[in-house]
Parts: sequence; structure tokens; C-alpha cells
Amino acid sequence: MRDFSVRPEIRDFSPYTPGLTIERIKELYGLDTVIKLASNENPLGVSPVVRKVLAQHAARVFRYPENHSPRLVEAIARAVGVPSECVVAGNGSDEIIDMLFRIRAVPGKSNVICYEHSFSMYRMCAKLSGVEYREVPRGAAFELPLDAMAEAADENTIMVFVTSPDNPTGQAASAEDLSVLAGVLPPDCLLVVDEAYIDFVWPPESYTPVQAFDRFENLVVLRTFSKAYGLAGLRVGYGLMPAQVAAHMKNSRIPFTVNLLAEEAALAALDDDTFYNETLATVMRGREFFLNELPRIGCRVWPSQANFVMFEPPMPARQVFESLLERGFIVRPLASFGLGEYIRVNMGTDAENRAFFAALAEVLDG
Ligand SMILES: *Cc1c(COP(=O)(O)O)cnc(C)c1O
Repeated sequence: MRDFSVRPEIRDFSPYTPGLTIERIKELYGLDTVIKLASNENPLGVSPVVRKVLAQHAARVFRYPENHSPRLVEAIARAVGVPSECVVAGNGSDEIIDMLFRIRAVPGKSNVICYEHSFSMYRMCAKLSGVEYREVPRGAAFELPLDAMAEAADENTIMVFVTSPDNPTGQAASAEDLSVLAGVLPPDCLLVVDEAYIDFVWPPESYTPVQAFDRFENLVVLRTFSKAYGLAGLRVGYGLMPAQVAAHMKNSRIPFTVNLLAEEAALAALDDDTFYNETLATVMRGREFFLNELPRIGCRVWPSQANFVMFEPPMPARQVFESLLERGFIVRPLASFGLGEYIRVNMGTDAENRAFFAALAEVLDG
């Protein structure tokens, strides 16, 4: 067999590890019902409004969508209060991360700053673009090390990534601290705040820098329809960024990456306050429940501003993960984040949350 050449950094890639699928676990363990609390998806599933819209637009999918999703971009700009020239819609916010690297990387010269135990996409994209990945350590309580990130940046730093609320620790940076960080970064460096879970913080004005978007010159904010809006499988997210960066991104990208159904669904989801508010209420209720109940059965749990919590069980996390799988519950072991002793679990419906606790208590008892 031939061995085709690839760049050296591609040869030793560690692939992205997604959560396990329900179908796979049913098959493996011979189970009828499996509850997945592993990928931070929406506890209420798909909004009925979105379902209807998808059915209505199914007959149009032989057409190409509009390039750059201008209707969605306008709707997002209106909803979040930023100029539409600053909005780029993408095939999930993952596409925006990828494009940021593509348009800014100088292979062999540029670097980016992230912190330990962060979302693997930043490292993956850095590697793929030949960009040095600098990782700043975190303290014992997993504080977001914003000061250390600023110190690690130099004239070749193109981006600093902060996930807020953070995946998987659930911590959020304050809008104030993010604003300070933006102000001290080198002139060619963007502050990228990944707000995949921003919908779940309370109160929002204490956390998101978007409310003062016009005061920043170097801020990029990433958001997604995958979590609070329940559209993970359709792949749609967006970035808010300086107009000049957005223009370069649009000029250089592959066309039509947001498909026609995804755009219609996202437009409908943005207007669907009922589903959105019910999602938030369900998540907040579940989060209270998890934060209260986990310590009662001997687990150490970290405070969370997201739709998941991270906890340390009183026995090996891998064993807890396997035993939960046998009982039909998929959670996320965090070894791939460099946190082998911890588990991340997202909030499901009230009934799923109760069932999960009964199963976990049984596992820890056994
Ligand atoms: C889920 C998630 C995203 C969203 O990814 P999409 O590509 O929009 O589905 C982005 N960043 C983090 C940290 C996430 O956990």
C-alpha cells in the first residue's frame, strides 16, 4: 500500500472524541432505552415550531441556499444588537473557529494562547494551520487564568481563546475581566470568547462582553444554535467580529456552508421564545438539582453557569462511566480534556435527571 505524504503535524493528530451515540449503546448493551447526557444538547429536543419549518422547507432543498445566509445574519444582528457587517454565520461555531485560523495563521510563525483543559477544537485547528499552541496552566479550582494568558501573548500571538462559560468546568469569566484582557493584548491579537453556553448564565449582563461590542476593537464572540436552540444536528453557529475580519472571512470562505434547512431552522429558533424560555427553565431547575444532589452521594461538584456540571465521583471516573453505560446512561468522561478523575453530565428533562441520580447512586453504592 502506498503511504501518501501529509504534513508531519497531521500524522500524529489525535482526533476529536465526540460523545457516544444512543443507537450504538443500545446495540452494545442490549438496552431498550438509553438516556444521553453527554454532549450538552437541548433537554427538550427539537422545538415543534422548528419541526414545522423544516417540513415546510423540505421541498426547497434542490435549490442552493443564499451564500453567507444574509437573512439569518440580519436577524442575528438585530437580536444581539451589533451591526450586520460584524456577523458571520457558519456550519456550527466550529466553522468560525476553523476560518479564524485559516485567515489569520502564518504557519511556523503565529501562535495562539489557550488554557489547560479547554475545548479541543482550538488545538486541532492550530495544529492543522501550523500555528503554535500555547497552553496556560490553571489553578486547583480551575479558575480561568486570564492574567497569565495576557502575559503569555507576544507580537506573534494572533488569538487568545476564552470559553465562557467554560467547557467542561462550567466557570464563566466576568464581562469586566474580559474587557480588561481585551485592553492589554498585543495590537495584532484577537480576543476570541467562545460563548457556546452563554444562554445559561445568570445574569447575562455580568458575563457577556457583547452588550458593549462597539467599545472593542479586537473582540470575536462565538455563539451557536447547537445548545440552547436545539439544532446541534443541523450545524449552525455564528461569530461576531470586527467588520474587517468578517469581510475577509466572507471573501475567502467556501460557499454555502450553512445549508438551506439550517438557515430556516435558525431563523425560526431565534423567534421561538416559548421553546427557548422553557429550555432555560428546565436547565436552571436541573442545575440546581445536580448541584444539590451530587454532594449528597459523595461527589465533589464544581459550580456551573452552563447546561452541564463537572463532578469528581468517590470512585474511579472510568468505572463510574462504564457502570452508567450498562444502565443506559451516557455521560462524558473527561480524560480527553486531561481531567481523568472527572465526569461531565448535562441536564436532561426533570425525569431524566431523577433517573440519572437513581442510577448514579446505585453505581456508587454497589
Ligand atoms: C458545543 C460547543 C461549541 C459549539 O459547536 P457547534 O460547532 O456550534 O456545534 C463551541 N464551543 C464549545 C466550547 C462547545 O462546547
